[in-house]
Amino acid sequence: MSTKKKMFAALLVSAILLVPARVTASTPTNHWVSSPSNPETINIAVIRINFTDNLSSPGSATLIGDLLFNEPDIDKKRMSLAFFYETASYGRVQVTGSVFPTITIVRTSRDCDDYKTWGRTAREALESQGTNLDEYTHMMYFWPPQGCYYAGIAELPGDESGMNLWRRWWRTTDGQGDAMDTMIHELGHNLGAPHSGAIRCRAGGVSVAGITEKCRAPWAFGRFGGSDTWEYGDNLDVMGGNLYLPFHALPSSASRFMMGFLTEEEMPLIEAAGTYEIELNPLNEPNAAIKGYRIRRPNVEAYGLWGMSTQKTAPEICLDWRERGTLFDRFPSSISRGISIRLCDVTGTQQRGAHGNAVLVDMTPGSRSGFRDWLDGPLRVGKSFVDEVSGIRIKLLSIQRDPINNALSRARLRIEIP
Ligand SMILES: [Zn+2]
Repeated sequence: MSTKKKMFAALLVSAILLVPARVTASTPTNHWVSSPSNPETINIAVIRINFTDNLSSPGSATLIGDLLFNEPDIDKKRMSLAFFYETASYGRVQVTGSVFPTITIVRTSRDCDDYKTWGRTAREALESQGTNLDEYTHMMYFWPPQGCYYAGIAELPGDESGMNLWRRWWRTTDGQGDAMDTMIHELGHNLGAPHSGAIRCRAGGVSVAGITEKCRAPWAFGRFGGSDTWEYGDNLDVMGGNLYLPFHALPSSASRFMMGFLTEEEMPLIEAAGTYEIELNPLNEPNAAIKGYRIRRPNVEAYGLWGMSTQKTAPEICLDWRERGTLFDRFPSSISRGISIRLCDVTGTQQRGAHGNAVLVDMTPGSRSGFRDWLDGPLRVGKSFVDEVSGIRIKLLSIQRDPINNALSRARLRIEIP
């Protein structure tokens, strides 16, 4: 970039926030994003399957029904997939469904990738008994755990998912693995979100809080080791490493954008050169006008953000700010003291069609070992982030909370785009 001349521009976010913003779908550019007054209904048919050569229970109807559709109870820390999606979508998605009696099928294959064939066989059996499945938008299959390589599998995007829930994953309290989080994760794939990864950048062998040329390298799979990237590394997203931690993390702004829970107005794209002082409200705040930002990176060639990526684009930067919650987002409060920065590839994915991508960039690389290194990933107040590839600089200026006046919390940022 030859010219260093910067223009000063301030987005009038604070002016918008003087009037409590009402979330409406009056002029959605993301046309299928529904509104709280006219929510999209996701109606799940829970198809329980076992096999003539394995008559074990695929999970009790009561337990599965509770995990999927229960009313929340904060005192009892009781959650459900339905309440999760109602929360993550700001009331724009309502989940309902039915749990059907177990169907025993003769399986033609032990191959776990044949789960859709198992599902179709069970569906046909139910329909031959007079059950009408037409009203359901999604099929979720459960079977007694087989020697599958997965705990859950799903179409991305699509309407079918399968649960191969090992015994220990049925634990619904905090701990390694969780049946409800697995169901939430797989439905998230159906809704268009891929895995949310993490990346740790190095320059000259040293980890740096920025994006360097090294971070342009194709995705390298490495779990728990000293590797720079991890497919499930985003600990702040149910589509990432949250599955291994007791946070019950909601989706990031990037994942919510891909799932169609955020409009382009709520997560604006900043693309013109200049210096911006902007405000950001917490992602989980339904009344916030601005819940995240996308920043286009100038002079960045298109490349696949990870090895499995089918599209080659120049990833943008996605920003959001997470405050600790009571039922969901129960991560350490230190997470709330900073903003999360992700490389994201979400443009054009709003139709729940194309595959996007997002990876959390670690702002404190090397602070801990393995995937837990990303537990202190957010950028803290007073700290700067530099994208050496595009020249973008981001500084978190302040975080303000005003509970007395019942005002929304605000983070102030300075963004320089060359
Ligand atoms: Zn997955």
